[in-house]
Amino acid sequence: MIEKPKIGVYVCHCGINIASTVDVETVEEYALKLPNVEVARTYSYMCSDPGQALIKEDIKEHGLNRIIVASCSPRMHETTFRKAIQEAGLNPYFLEMANIREQCSWVHQDMEEATAKAKKLVTASVAKVRLLEALESTEVDAEPAALIIGAGIAGIQAALDIADAGFKTYLVEKTPSVGGRMAQLDKTFPTLDCSACILTPKMVDCASHPNIELLTYSEVEEINGFIGNFDVRVRKKARYVDFEKCTGCGDCAKECRVADRFPSEFDEGMGKRSAIYLPFPQAVPAKYTIDPEQCLYLTRGKCGKEPKCQEVCGADAINFEQEDEYVEFKVGAIIVATGFDPFDPSRKPEYGYDDYPNVITGMEMERLVSASGPTGGKVLINNGKEEIEPKEVAFIKCVGSRDESVGNEYCSRVCCMYTAKQAHLIREKLPDANIRIYYMDVRAFGKGYEEFYDRVRRENVRYIRGNPSEIFKRGNKLVVKAEDTLTSTPLEDEVDLVVLGVGLEPRAEMRQVMDLLRLSQSGDRFFLEAHPKLRPVDTATEGVFLAGCCQGPKDIPDTVAQAKGAASSAMIPLARGSVTIDAQVAEVNEATCRGCGFCVEICPYSAIEMVTVNRFGHEIEVAKVNEALCKGCGSCSPACLSDSIQPKSFRDRQILPQIAALGAMK
Ligand SMILES: Cc1cc2nc3c(=O)[nH]c(=O)nc-3n(C[C@H](O)[C@H](O)[C@H](O)COP(=O)(O)OP(=O)(O)OC[C@H]3O[C@@H](n4cnc5c(N)ncnc54)[C@H](O)[C@@H]3O)c2cc1C
Repeated sequence: MIEKPKIGVYVCHCGINIASTVDVETVEEYALKLPNVEVARTYSYMCSDPGQALIKEDIKEHGLNRIIVASCSPRMHETTFRKAIQEAGLNPYFLEMANIREQCSWVHQDMEEATAKAKKLVTASVAKVRLLEALESTEVDAEPAALIIGAGIAGIQAALDIADAGFKTYLVEKTPSVGGRMAQLDKTFPTLDCSACILTPKMVDCASHPNIELLTYSEVEEINGFIGNFDVRVRKKARYVDFEKCTGCGDCAKECRVADRFPSEFDEGMGKRSAIYLPFPQAVPAKYTIDPEQCLYLTRGKCGKEPKCQEVCGADAINFEQEDEYVEFKVGAIIVATGFDPFDPSRKPEYGYDDYPNVITGMEMERLVSASGPTGGKVLINNGKEEIEPKEVAFIKCVGSRDESVGNEYCSRVCCMYTAKQAHLIREKLPDANIRIYYMDVRAFGKGYEEFYDRVRRENVRYIRGNPSEIFKRGNKLVVKAEDTLTSTPLEDEVDLVVLGVGLEPRAEMRQVMDLLRLSQSGDRFFLEAHPKLRPVDTATEGVFLAGCCQGPKDIPDTVAQAKGAASSAMIPLARGSVTIDAQVAEVNEATCRGCGFCVEICPYSAIEMVTVNRFGHEIEVAKVNEALCKGCGSCSPACLSDSIQPKSFRDRQILPQIAALGAMK
């Protein structure tokens, strides 16, 4: 027999968040008159310990068996109140929340109107709460292993932290070496640490760590499952070089028929590499890779040069028969650390990036000043006529950032500082050069950044406030056309070198990872976090976390901090060994399901599949919910032609009485 409902209604002031617009005492009095309401109270902060204690005491003293908390969105505190009523002996799902903050006080100014609406929400909750069923959450085992996609500094740091904690970690990197963009940098602001010197020890550590399985030149092809239990399939692309045998000596690259013929990705196309190559001297793993699109033997069937790379390789490591391999494994959590793409300045043709060799990007500048770069660290540029050391150097900031015309309204957060850093590096190498930086604003927000910016200005680097409109050629010089907006002076500034402070953009090929993991993008097109303030490393897909620039532009300190945050969040299910599956999920009525499959198509979490069942001797297809994947969002319900799938706690028989109660209100 269904026990008689004894309802407690708790109206929260939320400080003045609710109480300044909703007359909470009136709502309390009103609630007391509603059917089956035994107790109604108000309190300043219901979510506080004393607030929760109030509810627990009433449950015990008055024998309450259903609770309504009229406060904020259930997204904030549903779990808090479920836990509280469970501690008092009630089923945690015997709770209903009336959102009188986001839906009343925060959106209304008139107290009378807001209070009237709060009363309605409480009425609807009372109509529903009595019809809630007891639900039980379940526990499933979690695989004590993690997958990290992308091995820039974010992925490397997250992998090291998880592996150090004793969990198996798979680190998948699509290029032949770990390191990401940080490996390309010369020195890092504001401390001017040599980037390679601080990064390579971590790269080496992650390759030698007993708990890390490094899968470079590899891509994740398939991910199925749910938090605690993801099945992963990775494609290890053929390097045509035996990984075990290659000693990294480099004899093959020297003898390559097309040696030093192709633009080096690592040197941003300013240096050259062979068809068989090591991306950069400190690459990890130090193993050569043959580019299948450039190797003459692989593209044409013969190379023609004697001795061929195969013959000079003392370790007999080159194997043209090698094929892609697939590895499969299970993990409990996943971290996405796929980084960023620098903005492509060809999209701003007025800056002449495609026309003039002496208009270069910030990333190219990093390679130009680097001792391991194409010029051995000498700042030499081609002005279209000859190679020179530039005397007049201009930087332009915010190229592709804070710019609606290219669809990027956001600030890229690193360009102010990296242009300052590069100006300093040029000053070190070319003490007599005239250096100016065209800027809209200077955002020196991080620790030591303002001090660094001041230091660079003291080094006789001129900051000119103005956003150049055009760059064109005059004789051997480039002309930067701008207006100094502080003095309202139009300028035609003749220079030898222009460095474009390009911003950071989401990776062009992020779609594949998005689809694999059902991730979303925020307005700026980077991966969307679950909550910008309170869950900055989580995603809407449970067990999947974000680290580094794939979530938004960041400097290295923030990238590392976020990677550490993602690692510690990912380790929660791994350390617990199990995950709790929420009971508030969709349920299929197999007896009425027509097997149309619309719910499968519409489910944003891929939580529904069609299965064959035997109904009265006939094999038929019906929908089945994977409770571990289902988030109880309810998208399936309106798609169902026969009303056969409904989320528990949001069934028609629970929602329709709410609507009826509202309709009956005067
Ligand atoms: C010109 C320039 C100068 C900078 N200078 C500084 C500085 O001095 N100081 C500072 O603090 N910050 C600096 N930054 C910022 C710094 O580069 C970033 O903070 C840092 O590189 C972010 O690291 P990440 O790991 O998030 O991304 P990335 O470095 O982009 O690494 C991502 C990795 O993921 C891999 N990947 C991508 N997709 C996949 C996939 N589908 N599967 C497998 N692997 C994948 C990529 O190949 C890459 O290795 C600079 C940035 C620029 C553009």
